[in-house]
Amino acid sequence: MLNRIDLRGTPVSELGVRQLAELLPRAELDVEAAMAAVRPVCEDVRARGAAAVREHTARFDGVDLATTVVPRGALADALAGLDPQVAAALREAARRARRVHEAQVPGQSVTYVTDGSSVTERYVPVARAGVYVPGGLVAYPSSVVMNVIPAQVAGVEKIAVTSPPQASGGGLPHPAILAACELLGITEVHAAGGAQAIAMLGYGTRDCAAVDTITGPGNIYVAAAKRLLRGVVSTDAEAGPTEVAIVADGSADAAFVAADLIAQAEHDPLAACLLITSAPGLADRVDAELITQLATTRHASRVKEALTGQSGCVLVDDMDAALAVADAWAPEHLEVQAADAGDLAGRVRNAGAVFVGPYAPVSLGDYLAGSNHVLPTGGTARHSGGLSVLTFLRGIHVVTCTESALAAVAPHIDALGGAENLAAHVRAVRIRVGDDSAAAAAAAGGEVTGARSAPPLRHDLVGRVPYGAPQIDAPVKLNTNENPYGPSAALIGEIVQAAAAEAAALNRYPDRDAVGLRRDLAAYLGHGLQMSQIWAANGSNEIIQQLLQAFGGPGRTALGFEPSYSMHPIIAQTTGTRWIAGLREADFGIDRGRAVAAIAEYRPDLVFLTSPNNPTGAAMPLAVIEQVCAAAPGMVVVDEAYAEFARDQQATALTLLPRFPRLVVVRTMSKAFALAGARVGYLAADPGVVEALQIVRLPYHLSALTQATARAALGRSVELLGAVDAIRASRDELTTWLRARGLSVAESDANFVLFGTFNDRRAVWQKLVDHGVLIREVGPPGWLRVTIGTPREMDAFRTALEEVLS
Ligand code: PMP
Repeated sequence: MLNRIDLRGTPVSELGVRQLAELLPRAELDVEAAMAAVRPVCEDVRARGAAAVREHTARFDGVDLATTVVPRGALADALAGLDPQVAAALREAARRARRVHEAQVPGQSVTYVTDGSSVTERYVPVARAGVYVPGGLVAYPSSVVMNVIPAQVAGVEKIAVTSPPQASGGGLPHPAILAACELLGITEVHAAGGAQAIAMLGYGTRDCAAVDTITGPGNIYVAAAKRLLRGVVSTDAEAGPTEVAIVADGSADAAFVAADLIAQAEHDPLAACLLITSAPGLADRVDAELITQLATTRHASRVKEALTGQSGCVLVDDMDAALAVADAWAPEHLEVQAADAGDLAGRVRNAGAVFVGPYAPVSLGDYLAGSNHVLPTGGTARHSGGLSVLTFLRGIHVVTCTESALAAVAPHIDALGGAENLAAHVRAVRIRVGDDSAAAAAAAGGEVTGARSAPPLRHDLVGRVPYGAPQIDAPVKLNTNENPYGPSAALIGEIVQAAAAEAAALNRYPDRDAVGLRRDLAAYLGHGLQMSQIWAANGSNEIIQQLLQAFGGPGRTALGFEPSYSMHPIIAQTTGTRWIAGLREADFGIDRGRAVAAIAEYRPDLVFLTSPNNPTGAAMPLAVIEQVCAAAPGMVVVDEAYAEFARDQQATALTLLPRFPRLVVVRTMSKAFALAGARVGYLAADPGVVEALQIVRLPYHLSALTQATARAALGRSVELLGAVDAIRASRDELTTWLRARGLSVAESDANFVLFGTFNDRRAVWQKLVDHGVLIREVGPPGWLRVTIGTPREMDAFRTALEEVLS
């Protein structure tokens, strides 16, 4: 069925890219020739505007339109008439594309080139963009999504869409295209197609103001007109007949491969489809499949024309050669269906888009992957990428320089200006900073000089300060929710013994997977948990960081409900994860309806729930956690740092793990186990989550001494949990005592209480410090947080507070 091109035995990687490409089929597209045909049309529109568009439209499309402007009502009518399932699919396609393209928006970068001189890169959208959507027999509303979304995400304020009028549709463009425009909030649509539409966008007419950028696919005349207008406007890459290359080994499913070749060929008899394989057996199976599937395919004649024309099966010696062939052909779409598809895909250099593995067909990318389907064809993927937000943005360098920084670099400008014989350039600098500075000449060789220079920090971190409670040396420290009881003498002995045993082997790296510790933690947690469901790190802060590294990051979103533990947003931001701050209610609880609505709105990749919450104290009802798990599209992280202090010990999210594989319960040994100094946090989750975290953890992150210390403490959990009981009792006593003094106290399931409210909490906090008691100024305005200490410390706190308030 497919023509065979046998390159076995040919040293393909030694051939030049162009030489190799010449051995491969592809439809010829003579855009140059078409330019001769469209030039008069474009010139005419430039000279006569709307009247010329009207005449060419009458000639080519067979309709006479007084204006190209499509009335707004027609857009709304088209959407009302659109099949609801198609509308829903377009909405989902738009939502996914928006997510992917939002992640493309480059941040503003500031480079401090030297002390006193900087260059900021600003990305600014074009003011007005024109999107061409082909019409005719087949209409592609998905193309509206793929062109409009990047423009909208880039921040283009005015977007005009144009599409050929249809004689059968009363001179309007295809209704599916109008509906897609309405759905995306496009209000300016023109009924014009072909070269005259491109000229209308580029030069402007009475009905359509000139644009700055034109994108969108079209036939050869549209491509020719875009090439002609380049310079007047910017355009996307040139679109020719569509194409796919499938790089496959013997493990590929022949039915999948054949279906994808046919799907590509269905677009156009000129479509080019290449199977590149090292497995002749697969080539035979694909041929057989093509014959079987062709028998029932709808557009069999054009599919057959494409597959027997400029298509083929390239046989190569191995997968390295397959990649070399694919790179030489530089296809619009490249599928990799092979055992090590991910690895091979990572090595591709030339392709518009790459589709990895058996379940990522091009058809997914055409509609709903979120990737853009406007891609470079005809081998232009060697130098161009697909449509993106960058198509609509321009980088602008903003340069600043102080007088001394200019003086420092002036000798170099003298030299270059002299070499290029541009004396006025030298003068323009020397008129500002003189020419007698030997020191400046000496300094000009240096990079960043002096101690005052700021290192080139990531721009989104500039201005941030390190997180942490004020480290004040007070006699009574009740500010960081530590356990006030140090380890018992017996436990100290066991820790020392365990550490001594490890010390003998400290020349070796520790157990990278902390298997023994994880087994002990699983046993401690119970609930039938196994070692494979536990992961441990240096404090639960590191656990949270690893979760955000693995499941968050640039382009991803995390949602939390504030006030809550402030490291959640901080770690989100330092990992490049967008943070959405949901709000708690006045009683510090989370309203389940509002939580579910926020999840539906933001579709977060991670939801953070803190239970018991810090700094407010109370645990969440399990029913709310359950509803969040049911609604969340991604991971749900329940931070149970204070679980052991909860009034209801049964109400832990650990009980939900069997039902929700994306639920993660985070715990720490810092609080109940009185081990804050050892830095041990851990989580319980599905084994797949643990495996994912192993990708981001640093090798040997948990020291042998840490692991040994933690295991010694776990061996004494009964003793340690006894102290927890005492702390809980003391907390409840304190709550009663504070309330008896007319203060508000938030319900607490933790080892601290939040109390207030004070008009000037700062003053109360400071006076307590003056009395030797350090608590924490944190939480909603007016509230203060005190950690439960030893009985003696609590006495000191009560005495101090009474004095402060009297
Ligand atoms: N989660 C919460 C809710 C916390 O309050 C804290 C520390 N105060 C942590 C996590 C981090 O604890 P660690 O890193 O010590 O385990």
